[in-house]
Amino acid sequence: MQNGAMRCCPELTGMVHTEWRLDMVAGSVRGGASLADLAVTWFITKTSVEQKILGYETIIGIETHVQLSTLTKAFCSCPYPYGSQPNTTVCPVCMGHPGTLPVLNSKVIEFAVKLGLALNYGLSMTSKFDRKQYFYQDLPKGYQISQFDIPIAIKGFIDLDLPVEFGGGHRRFGITRVHMEDDAGKLIHSETGSYSQVMDLNRTGVPLLEIVSKPDMRSGLEAAEYAAEIERLVRYLGISIGNMQEGSLRCDVNIFVRPVGQSNFGTKVEIKNMNSFSAMNKAIDYEISRQVLLHSQG
Ligand SMILES: [Zn+2]
Repeated sequence: MQNGAMRCCPELTGMVHTEWRLDMVAGSVRGGASLADLAVTWFITKTSVEQKILGYETIIGIETHVQLSTLTKAFCSCPYPYGSQPNTTVCPVCMGHPGTLPVLNSKVIEFAVKLGLALNYGLSMTSKFDRKQYFYQDLPKGYQISQFDIPIAIKGFIDLDLPVEFGGGHRRFGITRVHMEDDAGKLIHSETGSYSQVMDLNRTGVPLLEIVSKPDMRSGLEAAEYAAEIERLVRYLGISIGNMQEGSLRCDVNIFVRPVGQSNFGTKVEIKNMNSFSAMNKAIDYEISRQVLLHSQG
């Protein structure tokens, strides 16, 4: 962003942000509990999560990135055929070379408006882009073109019915905002487990819509059903392939658990880039059990 501020879910601001990745934990975690303890706890609780977390309240918010199925990228005329050879669909604009001028693809606006209307949003009649400055290998520009204070759409909601086999029931999940941005490239890691990498910039400049939910979900099931509804919606609207395995639909889940009656927010944990609904459901329920265990240990 031009002001250098990192954006996060406005409903969750004020929390201390901690990122905890399942694949990076080794040995032990905070609170002195070993992984074996946590695994045992998880297996006990996965069949009776609600019973285990009695006395605790879980708050879940989701940020969803939807990759748009436009013929060309957001600010240049490069196509983005998924699976093409690395660095074959790039140009000076999407690589951010000095002196280049990004020109917005009007289809990005059209798709954003479609999604905004489908999510019962208030559309912004005036909007703008901002620079989100950060340095990483997959971002040759040194900034992402995104939206900060005036997103394309705000204050929507999504209605859905939970599966009958899981108890059913109607839910309405609030959505804080939808904003437009362009994607970064990606690092390709070798399958041998070595640290060698290939930089693929084909994805730089591909248009995204980021949907930021309110922290309205209370279980892994609700979060997975919310994400599945987003998938159905973007496919129905024809604005995205909506394929989690290929990365055209990506979810970052923020979770924290607090004792019932506690009003202030605590430390949240973010699980990034979930690539299936079942994995999301399991990862969230595991994380709920893990935080309950840590709370119970003081
Ligand atoms: Zn380009």
